Amino acid sequence: MTGAKDVVTLVPGATHAGAGEAPFVRTSFQNDMRTSFGRSSATDGPMKVDAAVPPALAAAVQPIDRGPAAAASSLGPAASQELSRAMLSSWQYRVSGKAAVAELLQECAAEHIACGGPRGVEEVAVRHIRRHDIDSDSIYVVDLASPFRLFKAWRAAMPRVLPYYAVKCYPEPAILKLLMALGAGFDCASKGELDMMLKLGVSPGRIIFAHPCKRGADFRYAREHGITYTTFDSSSELHKIAEMDPEFKCVLRIRADDPGARVPLGLKYGAEVEEAAGLLAEAKQLGLEVVGVSFHVGSAAKNLATFTNAIANARKVFDDAAGMGFKMELLDIGGGFTGHFDECGNVMFGEIANTINAALATYFPPGGDLGDVRVIAEPGRYFAETSSTLMTVVIGQRDRPQKDGSTHKDYWLTDGLYGSFNCIVYDGQNPEWRIVRSPILPDPADAKTTYVSTLWGPTCDSADVVYKDVALPELRNGDWLLWPNAGAYTVAGACDFNGIEFTTPMKVYVWSDIAVDVEVPEADSKAEQAAEGAQ
Ligand SMILES: *Cc1c(COP(=O)(O)O)cnc(C)c1O
Repeated sequence: MTGAKDVVTLVPGATHAGAGEAPFVRTSFQNDMRTSFGRSSATDGPMKVDAAVPPALAAAVQPIDRGPAAAASSLGPAASQELSRAMLSSWQYRVSGKAAVAELLQECAAEHIACGGPRGVEEVAVRHIRRHDIDSDSIYVVDLASPFRLFKAWRAAMPRVLPYYAVKCYPEPAILKLLMALGAGFDCASKGELDMMLKLGVSPGRIIFAHPCKRGADFRYAREHGITYTTFDSSSELHKIAEMDPEFKCVLRIRADDPGARVPLGLKYGAEVEEAAGLLAEAKQLGLEVVGVSFHVGSAAKNLATFTNAIANARKVFDDAAGMGFKMELLDIGGGFTGHFDECGNVMFGEIANTINAALATYFPPGGDLGDVRVIAEPGRYFAETSSTLMTVVIGQRDRPQKDGSTHKDYWLTDGLYGSFNCIVYDGQNPEWRIVRSPILPDPADAKTTYVSTLWGPTCDSADVVYKDVALPELRNGDWLLWPNAGAYTVAGACDFNGIEFTTPMKVYVWSDIAVDVEVPEADSKAEQAAEGAQ
């Protein structure tokens, strides 16, 4: 952790805090914000989010990185020179090429590792478990290089589409700060999420308040803190907006279902395209400003055609709205994206980028008759999923002899359905695991014979079962299960049922050089060494 002065540079105070206004503190992720990097033992103490920092500092918050010299400019000239020299020679700056990212990596004490696949992460976790003697906590290993790579790949693949990260998916402070440093915007859905982002120093202009049915208190918070863009999909919401603040720039969310999406959203949100004209007319009557169209094809979407159809439908609504005199300027293509890496560790975007780029070129040609339409998206899972690996430890077990003479084994883990595995219930996930033997115990005598086993969560609820009747070799108390791709819709949806701190797992931050586990073949590394020697 750096000193208080640096905290000010890293987390510029929000400009939004009105004089004498009590800081908003309530939800569980507000707690998370106060402890910022969770209960990581690698970083001692919470990182301060200081709302009392003078607004002038907000000038330091901007998406364009001005390099280490500018980052250090709030210090004295000598200290500044010192800082920028140290910064330039740090691995953090070398791997990211960005002062703000380098500072973040230092702040969360990220460890630099070679491979970010399950084996690379396992090594980090095992070191951490040994060092801190952990026997009853779940651990998250967060690889910040993963969202970094995904962000760069997104910008390269879809240069017209600026991602606004959907905060609900994984409000992990370091990932939020990373995306902020990279120039992303944010999709917030409540005053808690808005507050979190404003406190991190994100300007209200980089936020879309993308909930089509907002609570009154959320509205008031947004209005008071300069949030301008919000979505709607019903007449009721239009009336609420008109009452709250007719100055809000309204974005009409239309329905755009991918029937193949794992979590479809169309039943709950999105106006039918046929309803659009009526809603637009009503908005006009209420004196509201409709400025754009949004949709969400459903989370973990599969059918590319859904995007094409939705963009075509958005164009229809744009034309209707323009015909009624609205100044339409924003197309928001929502979320639903999944981030993948190929076996070399490169981001695999597949056809989705081509499909979207083509649809945009057809229906929203740059410089077309609509003028300049800004295109944004609201990816959540895309940035979050691959970033994190969950480690759970076996804390208890029992053998149950079966009538056929076999043995059924029960194991209790440190996480369950009330914690990160709520993803099984709400997000339809089928998490995969890998066994990590206790770094403290001797090797098991028999690691091969499998038994029908059940993995229980740690609460007293018998419904709290992660997997029933799966084949597992014998586990000992103290053995671990490693769950890769655990960033999206996991800990974000956890609660602290039974007084178990599911919402604040231990966190270890890393930065991997490659997203996957690769072994450099000996011949290659020899050739490389030879090449280096020859230089
Ligand atoms: C949940 C949500 C998202 C993020 O969806 P992903 O499938 O995680 O990309 C984006 N926008 C809205 C309005 C959402 O509700």
